[in-house]
Amino acid sequence: MKFRTRAIHVGNRPDPQTGAVIPPLYLASTFVQPGAGQWGEFDYSRSGNPGRSAVQETLTSLEGGYGALAFSSGMAATHCVTLLLNSGDHLIAGNDLYGGSYRLFHKICNSIGIEVSLVDLNDLSAIRKAVRPETKMIWLEGIGNPRLSVPDLPAIVEIGHANSLLVVVDNTFATPVLQRPLEYGADIVMHSATKFMGGHSDCLAGVLVAKSQEILGRLYFIQNATGAVLGPLESFLLARGLKTLELRVREQSKSALEIAKFLEKHPGVEKVLYPGLESHPDHDRAKQLLDGAFGAMVTFAAKCDFEATRKLVKSTKLFHLAVSLGAVESLIEQPATMSHASYDSAARLQAGITDNLIRLSVGLEDPEDLIDDLDQAIRTCT
Ligand SMILES: *Cc1c(COP(=O)(O)O)cnc(C)c1O
Repeated sequence: MKFRTRAIHVGNRPDPQTGAVIPPLYLASTFVQPGAGQWGEFDYSRSGNPGRSAVQETLTSLEGGYGALAFSSGMAATHCVTLLLNSGDHLIAGNDLYGGSYRLFHKICNSIGIEVSLVDLNDLSAIRKAVRPETKMIWLEGIGNPRLSVPDLPAIVEIGHANSLLVVVDNTFATPVLQRPLEYGADIVMHSATKFMGGHSDCLAGVLVAKSQEILGRLYFIQNATGAVLGPLESFLLARGLKTLELRVREQSKSALEIAKFLEKHPGVEKVLYPGLESHPDHDRAKQLLDGAFGAMVTFAAKCDFEATRKLVKSTKLFHLAVSLGAVESLIEQPATMSHASYDSAARLQAGITDNLIRLSVGLEDPEDLIDDLDQAIRTCT
């Protein structure tokens, strides 16, 4: 079955008892056991819940993994992965990195003795050089944030596996519609399902998909031991969002390309970063590694100073000024003060996050309306 069909049918069976096309929510925290010391399919909802199991089945199919785990947030999923590491281990991560991952790696992992090196993932020799005897894992984003870099995933997997590292891909921006990292040999895929997968700004969720039974087993043990599982209502909302994932991502990507082309010609714009534009440094690789579209995120630098940029992002009427992304409503933000505020300022500049950088998450509104809205907002600072 094709992706879109699996998104609707895998993990979504009618309720055998009532025929309800949409299975019921099981709010129960505990389940009756067949006997003392005997276990049924479910026993306690931290360890497993029918709605969570169902959406995990859908996620496994969409990413092409061995199995999936659903968490209470993307950061909970990321934290679970970092708990595969021990004190003394070393982690390599890309420097085009989500602000919350930066904070977790530098403030939580560092404090328990895990060292973290950020590298430019476009520099394969820098990755090789960063590997030490104690390096255990490499963490990257399939489409980086906020520069929308597209790293050479097959080459990085090869370097990782040649050095016995686990390769983990935060696939939040690309979604399995545009890239399925396990097909390129990655070991674990992570998602903030709060974003495109949920898709409606109404559900906080995180996902891990593992390549093998062995990795899934280790992650499941940590998740069950630490407890940041996805609740039944959020599991339902996530399952509902996944059914339209491909339609949304393809349509939003189409609008994003139109908007990027408009911005590139705008006299008030200094530069546009969109992997679908020929001017993007990773455009050729994006064409090769992303499946037929370039995503719904657009980053651009306005010809404005810090204060004027703050004014610009407050001046849109359709784009809401908010962090997060991937939903049907379009959002605008200033990475330097919002999504990437948890970077220290030197790291922020090194990652190219200037004060005049603006990140858009393009939603499902008519692109002409979105373009008009951006045009009037950019004029506020020129
Ligand atoms: C939002 C986000 C996260 C964190 O996910 P939460 O659901 O907010 O905890 C991680 N990575 C990326 C790329 C994100 O955009």
